[in-house]
Amino acid sequence: MKKTYHGSCHCGAVRFSAGIDLAPQGRRSTPELPGIWWTATFRCTCSSCMKSRFWKAFVRPADFTLISGGEALGEYRFGERAIAHRFCRNCGVRPFASADFEPMGGAFYCVNVACLDDATPEELEAAPVIYEDGRNDNWDGPPALTFYL
Ligand SMILES: [Zn+2]
Repeated sequence: MKKTYHGSCHCGAVRFSAGIDLAPQGRRSTPELPGIWWTATFRCTCSSCMKSRFWKAFVRPADFTLISGGEALGEYRFGERAIAHRFCRNCGVRPFASADFEPMGGAFYCVNVACLDDATPEELEAAPVIYEDGRNDNWDGPPALTFYL
């Protein structure tokens, strides 16, 4: 079931809420859009996710609210510069990213599940994870090794 979670950076300047479904398969809400992005959380081997340990949950704009800290947020873009990776300029934590991709139905947020303050260990443990082989630019299947992600 999709629930409203609250998240923050480490120093607490940046706070947000987001509707995210962390439930395992069989107990999940029906996604509002087609596509794999709305069916699980994601861990990835790409240079960005790997170095920042980013644990992704895709969220539609209607399900995301920035509560505070807009002025504290820096923005980092690389490669094709299509994704706005946001980070707290005070503590360095990366609570979310945003982008706009037609195949995903337009604008979306990508919340860092690790920044959710009220997700329980049981919810985090049960959350479905899809592994992406971003390091090899192979987005159609998981990398050979995943435990370290
Ligand atoms: Zn901070």
